[in-house]
Amino acid sequence: MKNFSNYNDYSKKENLHFSSKAVHGALGCEPITGAVSFPIYQSSTFRHPELGKSTGFDYSRLLNPTRQELERTVAILEEGEHGFAFSSGQAANMALFTWLNPGDHMILMDDIYGGTYRIATTIFGKYGIEYDFVDMSDMDAVKAAIRPETKMFFIETPSNPLMKVADIAELSALAHSIGAISVVDNTFLTPYFQRPLTLGADVVIHSGTKYMGGHNDIIAGLAVVKDDDLAAHFKLQLKSHGNGLSPMDSWLMLRGIKTLHLRMEKHNENAMKVAEWMRKHPKIEKVYYVGFEDHKGYEITKKQTSGFGGMISFAVDSEETVHKILRDTQMIMFAESLGGTETLITYPTTQTHEDTPLDVKEKLGITKKFLRMSVGIEDVDDIINDLAGAMD
Ligand SMILES: *Cc1c(COP(=O)(O)O)cnc(C)c1O
Repeated sequence: MKNFSNYNDYSKKENLHFSSKAVHGALGCEPITGAVSFPIYQSSTFRHPELGKSTGFDYSRLLNPTRQELERTVAILEEGEHGFAFSSGQAANMALFTWLNPGDHMILMDDIYGGTYRIATTIFGKYGIEYDFVDMSDMDAVKAAIRPETKMFFIETPSNPLMKVADIAELSALAHSIGAISVVDNTFLTPYFQRPLTLGADVVIHSGTKYMGGHNDIIAGLAVVKDDDLAAHFKLQLKSHGNGLSPMDSWLMLRGIKTLHLRMEKHNENAMKVAEWMRKHPKIEKVYYVGFEDHKGYEITKKQTSGFGGMISFAVDSEETVHKILRDTQMIMFAESLGGTETLITYPTTQTHEDTPLDVKEKLGITKKFLRMSVGIEDVDDIINDLAGAMD
């Protein structure tokens, strides 16, 4: 019989494959009772045995057993050392950007998620942190944007919503050569398909709301690092902002993660079929999908990921077709967000990228004829028939 002594007695399960790690988490079962489903520790505070002694848990803003199990599980899956679970992806980004000091400069992907754009410009811009939005799939453009004060690269790959692919290993090496850190928003592919820390990145960020949670039922954020200084930074931010993920939501994400590998396989398989079908449809003018062999970033995708994910963006022939799709699909839902079991369509220009300036959007191709689909895990024929019917 295994002797469970305490909550620090977990193994990284390095001998296990990804799917087994996803199912079994860090501690996996609860150390005192043996509960197979890790409990929701709905307690704000923890009783101390005596003066100067603690179970390791004092107050849930700092550390909560359910959140800790999630944080360790995500660190294991991303092959990092330290994980942090926040109340949203944006909260994780807020904690990240406080790494920078006034006068520092950062380089971010040009079509980055609108909320990240807003944090960088409106919030941190006010504190004297400088930024440039660059097509990070173009190494020369990144090199040209470097300044002596550049301290961070913020990479989104594939990018949202234009599906541009950036080379994580090359960009991370470049960041390190100038004393900057490299951050990857890994929301779209998850560690099942892409593990940025193994490619040289320093920080992985997730909107856990999306594939990691996977069921459109929570708002959550994650950060994973290897380095102890970065870990201390995130720990201090989480403790000070008080934006750690709640025990209930931590449990929901742990539950979602148990099927991450199965869901990602199905998202991947369905998206591939939908993208191929879209490409042949007369009302669809352009399909942005990283799994196409003629995608500009295909070679890099092949090198750094083991799958293409479930995201497709597409431009249709007219605004009329946009209206039809958003109004007349039956099963597919017109809703913000991505990465859940249900197929969703969003309209980036007024939704995810509302706060990105119009001229920037037009330049990038995020026009009024541009849509983004998060392909769910339903039967792919139903997805295709629904979309086809709405466009008729
Ligand atoms: C949704 C999203 C975010 C923001 O995460 P929230 O959980 O909504 O706060 C950040 N980056 C990407 C790529 C996203 O899709």
